[in-house]
Amino acid sequence: MIDAVRKGQNLRLVPSVDKVLNTPEIKEALNHTPRWLILKIVREALDEFRISVSQVRSGCHSQKGIGKKGSSGNLHITSSTTQEDALRMIINRALERNASIQTNSLRRVINGTGVIIHTNLGRAPLSPEAISLINEVAQGYSNLEYDLSEGKRGKRTSHVHGLVLRLTGAEDAFVVNNNAGAVLLALNSLAEGKEVIVSRGELVEIGGSFRIPDVMKKSGAIMREVGTTNRTHISDYENAVSENTGLLLKVHTSNYKITGFSSDVSLKDLVDLGSKCRIPVMMDLGSGNLTDISIFGLKGEPTIHEILSTGVNVVTFSGDKLLGGPQAGIILSQGGIDMSVVRINPLARALRIDKLTLAALEATLRLYQRNDYASSNPVMKMIGISIDDLKSRAQKCLSMFEEVNKGMMILSTREDESSVGGGALPSESLPTFVIVFKRGRISVEELDRAFRGSSPAVVGRIKDGAYILDLRTIMEDDIPLLINLYEKIVEYMGVQ
Ligand SMILES: *Cc1c(COP(=O)(O)O)cnc(C)c1O
Repeated sequence: MIDAVRKGQNLRLVPSVDKVLNTPEIKEALNHTPRWLILKIVREALDEFRISVSQVRSGCHSQKGIGKKGSSGNLHITSSTTQEDALRMIINRALERNASIQTNSLRRVINGTGVIIHTNLGRAPLSPEAISLINEVAQGYSNLEYDLSEGKRGKRTSHVHGLVLRLTGAEDAFVVNNNAGAVLLALNSLAEGKEVIVSRGELVEIGGSFRIPDVMKKSGAIMREVGTTNRTHISDYENAVSENTGLLLKVHTSNYKITGFSSDVSLKDLVDLGSKCRIPVMMDLGSGNLTDISIFGLKGEPTIHEILSTGVNVVTFSGDKLLGGPQAGIILSQGGIDMSVVRINPLARALRIDKLTLAALEATLRLYQRNDYASSNPVMKMIGISIDDLKSRAQKCLSMFEEVNKGMMILSTREDESSVGGGALPSESLPTFVIVFKRGRISVEELDRAFRGSSPAVVGRIKDGAYILDLRTIMEDDIPLLINLYEKIVEYMGVQ
């Protein structure tokens, strides 16, 4: 009986849709938001309110209902809640929701992880030259598939074809949407219905969704595994060769390394076997690099020139790993491979590179024709920063953080290690300097959450109970902004 009365009272708090729509706040929102969307949002807010009301009634009033999904205000419906209060809560919730769905989901992140080619953070940042050509091409029309000198239809990939050949020394090349696409297209074009011999030690998974055996299956090639996980010999390949062999494949194991009792067949030996048996050899290089990064103290990653000098027939690699460009896949060929099979493959159209990517790729590649490429290409720049530079940046940064810290965290700097990421150099690291935040009045987890929620977001690492920002992957121009974001967090946490 009492319950029924209370229920009636509470439900009387719920305003009509029209009443909400006619408030000045919602009318104002209707000036810049379509009516169907506002209507949907208001109805959702009303539904949430009703749920909250029913929870009050059943005595399980909680943070659920209208206060859920991280929205700031919590709905406290009590016996003294008036119809006015209810209306206000619903309007606020609707406006909050509208603001949130009008905000872009994809946004800028300051990368403090120290992983230069971080796949989850968008891999390679682009050079100003690449960004500028994207802008130019995006703003209007372009000669994407138009030959300006002939005044007739041209080819999309012609813009980078000569460049790629010049920079790599390959005889022919084709570019597609990404390297997974490049591998799929190459396997399908060159070995559909035929056996592709590959070592069991190289049947890798890259980034959770690219697995060599799965891509092989989809390409229509028949996978012929040889050797064992830790050891494969040239005789294993040799014994597997038959009249149905279409390709010998070598895959860069990218994100892992087998150490200990292991051996694999060198690309050179595989190429020798290929030429003896007249079978083309393909290498999926993953993160190809055009320049010798051993000058930065990084070993174990041969350049594309060195790879091609083995005589390998087909090489595939990514545009957005060590190359420092946009997401793209590049197929190189030499030694009598007929790339027209690749070009006329219907998959080539399905995997074709988009014009903005092509613009970024062209500008990225063109930089490699200049002596100062390493100072424009952000990936090369980050790999190349000296430890002395990082140390002085860290010290400068630390004192800027200290200035706004108000004793909220315990700050220091120390040496640590960055990595290249992107499947390149899995077992090598670069010495770096980091800012270390230890728990003060703000906990490490709170700081991490606050940084991720700021705009732009900041992503660091939690290691040994401390929050760490690696100076190597933080762009110098972003440092004042980063300090500013921290200052805001300190102020916000300070009043909590
Ligand atoms: C990264 C990688 C790929 C996938 O390249 P995407 O450009 O991400 O499609 C394929 N093979 C290897 C060996 C890789 O390292």
